[in-house]
Amino acid sequence: MAHFINLVLPIPLERHFTYSVSAPEAKLLQPGMRVSVPFGKSKIYTGIVLSVHTTAPEVYEAKEIHQILDDTPIVTQIQLKHWQWIADYYMCTLGEVVRSALPGAFLLESETLVLRNRDAEIDEQDLKDDEFLVFEALQHQSVLKVHEVAAIVDRKNVLPILNRLLAKNVIKLKEEVFEQYKPKLVKYVRLGIAHSSDEALETLLESLTRAPKQSQVVLALFQLQATSKKPISTSELEQAGNSSKAVIKALVDKGILEEYSIRVDRVDFDGTRDVSAVKELNSYQEQALNDIKTAFDADKVTLLKGVTSSGKTEVYVKLIEECLALKKQVLYLLPEIALTTQLISRLQEYFGEKIAIYHSKYNVQERVEVWNNVLLAKNKAQIVIGARSAMFLPFSDLGLLLVDEEHESSFKQFDPAPRYHARDAAIVLGSMHTSKILLGSATPSIESYHNVKMGKYGYAEITRRYGNVLMPDMELVDIKEAQRKKRMKGHFSERLLEEMTEALEAGEQIILFQNRRGYAPVLECLTCGHTPQCPNCDVSLTYHQFRKQLRCHYCGHHSALPESCLACGSPDLDTKGFGTQQIEQEVIKLFPEAKVDRMDLDTTRGKHAYEKIITRFEQQQLDILVGTQMLTKGLDFRNVSLVGVMNADALLNFPDYRAHERSFQLLTQVAGRAGRTKKRGKVIIQTYNPYHQILKQVTTGEYDNMFEEQIYEREQFKYPPVNRIIKITFKHKNYNVLNEAADWFSSALKTNFGGNVLGPEYPPVARIRNQYLKHVLVKMDKKESAARKKQHIKRIEKSFNAISMYRSVRVVYNVDHI
Ligand code: ADP
Ligand code: ZN
Ligand code: ZN
Repeated sequence: MAHFINLVLPIPLERHFTYSVSAPEAKLLQPGMRVSVPFGKSKIYTGIVLSVHTTAPEVYEAKEIHQILDDTPIVTQIQLKHWQWIADYYMCTLGEVVRSALPGAFLLESETLVLRNRDAEIDEQDLKDDEFLVFEALQHQSVLKVHEVAAIVDRKNVLPILNRLLAKNVIKLKEEVFEQYKPKLVKYVRLGIAHSSDEALETLLESLTRAPKQSQVVLALFQLQATSKKPISTSELEQAGNSSKAVIKALVDKGILEEYSIRVDRVDFDGTRDVSAVKELNSYQEQALNDIKTAFDADKVTLLKGVTSSGKTEVYVKLIEECLALKKQVLYLLPEIALTTQLISRLQEYFGEKIAIYHSKYNVQERVEVWNNVLLAKNKAQIVIGARSAMFLPFSDLGLLLVDEEHESSFKQFDPAPRYHARDAAIVLGSMHTSKILLGSATPSIESYHNVKMGKYGYAEITRRYGNVLMPDMELVDIKEAQRKKRMKGHFSERLLEEMTEALEAGEQIILFQNRRGYAPVLECLTCGHTPQCPNCDVSLTYHQFRKQLRCHYCGHHSALPESCLACGSPDLDTKGFGTQQIEQEVIKLFPEAKVDRMDLDTTRGKHAYEKIITRFEQQQLDILVGTQMLTKGLDFRNVSLVGVMNADALLNFPDYRAHERSFQLLTQVAGRAGRTKKRGKVIIQTYNPYHQILKQVTTGEYDNMFEEQIYEREQFKYPPVNRIIKITFKHKNYNVLNEAADWFSSALKTNFGGNVLGPEYPPVARIRNQYLKHVLVKMDKKESAARKKQHIKRIEKSFNAISMYRSVRVVYNVDHI
C-alpha cells in the first residue's frame, strides 16, 4: 500500500500538498512534525505534517519527501486548529499563518540565508565532515543560501546539517537580531537613616573632626541636598566634595552614607523601606480579584478596568500565582515588548526564572529555546510574556491568559498576513485550552466594554489609584485664545510654562506629548503655497531639522532641504505645523538649565535606544522628556509631576471612525503618567477646541459617557462592535488597471451583498511606494454568518484571479480592525 502525507508549506497558497512516504516513514510520522520537501524545480521547503494517509492525490503524482526533521511533533494539535481558525477568520492561508507562527530556524528553506555566528568559539574537532565543509565555506564567503550549501556538501538534503550547525552555534540565520538590554545602574548616595535628623548630623560632624576628608564629603552632600531635590549620584558627590571613591566607600561602610540605585530600589525610594517583594492587595484590588474569580467560575472572559496606577499588575500577579500552583502555563500578552522593560523586571522579581520572554525580534536560538521549553511544559517557561507572536507558542496546558493594555491598537498586525488581532485571536486560543482569560486596561476598547454591557464578558474594576494617590488634575488650555492675545511662546502657553517652571524648581520631571515626530510636518512656500511631495507616495514630505532633510514617513524617501521653492524658485520657505523635534528645541531655549531628551521613532531606531532613554529618565538624569505616543505605554515614572499635551487637536481630527475612542485612550494614558506618588499630578492639555466633547470626557474621566456616544455613532454608521466589517484593499502600480480591477471586484460584491458594500474609494494616501491603492468596505450585520460571507468573498477573489489582467493586482483583507 502506498503512503502519503498532507503538508502545510509556509507559502501563501490555499491548498495543502500531498507527498509520498515509505511505510516505515508513515509509521514514524505524526501530525505536527516537520519534513523537508522538494518544491517546484529546485526549491526546498520545510513543511508541517497535517495528516498521514493512503489516498493518492488525483491530479498530480506525489513527490517523495527529502527528510523527516523531528522525532516528535513540534507543533500541537491545538495549534493547528487555532492557526486554521486564524486563516479562516482573517482570510489568509494556513501557510501564511505557519510562516508567521514558527521561528525562522524551524523553517529552513532553499532561499534562507546562512551566516557564520561570530559570537561563538568553535572547536573544529566537534564538527562532522559535512558540517566542517559548511563552516569552511563561511570563512570565505559571508553569506550562503541554503541551495548553495547543497552544492558545497554535494547533497540535496542539507537541512539536517544546517539544523545541527544551528544547534552547535556555528551558524546563524540572516535576520534582525535583538538582544536584551541591561541598563547601567547609576549609584546614588544619601545620608543613612540614623543620621538624617539635624541633631544627628551635628553629632555626626563632631565625630568626624578627625577625618576631615570624610566630613568634607558629608558637608558637600548636605549642601547638594539643600540646593536640589534631585537624587545625588556618587560621582556628583565625588566632584562636589572634591573627594574620591575610596572616601565615599569608607563612609558607606561605616553606615553614614547609604548607596542605592533608583531602578532597583524604586519601591522604597520614597523613604518607605519595605523591600519585601510580595505585596498585599488593598481592599479595592481584593474586591476586583474576587469579582474576577466569580466571573471565571462562570467561564467568562473578564475585563478588568482599573484607572492608571491602580495596581492592576498586582492583581495579575495573584492570578498568576494561583495558576502556577495548578502547574498550568500562563501567557501574558503585551502590546510591545520592547516597551516594557519595567514590567518585566518587576515580574522577574516575583517569579524569577519561571518567566520566559518571547518576541519576534529575539534571535533564533532564544526563540527556539523558548519554543521547546513551552512545548515540553518546562518550569522555565511556565509564564510567557510576549508581544502578539507569543500566542503562537506550543502551549500544552494554558491555564491563564492575560491581555494587558487590551485597548492598544498595536495588537493588530497589519503586514504581512496573517492580519490578525492578537487580543481576539488569543481569546480563541484561550478558550480552546479552556483557560481563564483576563483583559486589562484603564481605558478599555469599545469592543470589550460592549461585550461587558451585553453580558458576554465578566467585569471587575478599580476606580482608585493605589495608595490613595489622587488622579491627576487636568486642565484644558485654549491656545486659540492665547494666540489671539499673543500670549504664546512658540507652542507653549503661559499656563504650561508656569507649571513647568514650578515642577523644575521642585526637582520634578516633566513629560511633553506631541503626537507627531519630525521638526514640522511640511515645508511650505510663502510665495506660491507649494509643499514638496514624495515622488513615490501621495503625501507631503516631512521636514527633519536635525539632518536638514525632507523625509517620507511612508516609504523612507529623503532628500536634502531645498534652499528655494522647487515650483517657483522663491527663497521664502516656512514650516507648517510642528513635531516633537521642534518642541524639544523650543524647550531647550526656554529652559536652558534643564536636561531635555526626545523619544520618538527617530530617536529610538538604534539598538536599545528606547531602553536607554527610559532608563535615563527613570534615573532622573533627564528633567524633561518630549515624545510621541511611545510615551503612553504603561510606563511608571515615580517623579513625573507634570504632563503637557502640546496639541490635542491633531488626534481628534484623524479621519477614522476610531479617532475619538483613540484620543480618549491616548490622552487618558498619557495623563496617567503624572503624579504616581503622593503629590497630585498636573496635566495641561493645549487645544484649539476646549469645548470638544472628548476632551471634556478625558478631563473628567467620564469613560461611560464616551462609550455611550461612541456606541451610538457606531450603530448609526454600522461600524464595529455593533456590526462586522472587512476592508479589502487593492494595490497595483498601474492606475487604470487598479481602477478597473477594484470596480470589477466591488460590483461582484454588490451583486451579492447589496448596499452593504462601500467604495471603491481612494484612501487619504492613495499611492505608497509607487503602488496605487483603493479600498472597498464590506459591512455585515452581526446576525449573519460571517464565515459564509468570507467564503463567498474568497470565491469572488478566485474568479477575479482567473481574469489575466487582474492577476497582478494584490488583494489584501483586514477583518474587524481596519
Ligand atoms: P497599573 O498597572 O494599574 O497602572 P501598577 O500595577 O503599575 O498600576 O501599580 C502602580 C504602583 O503601585 C506600582 O508602583 C506598584 O508597585 C504599586 N502597587 C500597586 N499595588 C500595590 C500593593 N498592593 N502594595 C504595594 N504597592 C502596590
Ligand atoms: Zn513657491
Ligand atoms: Zn514616500
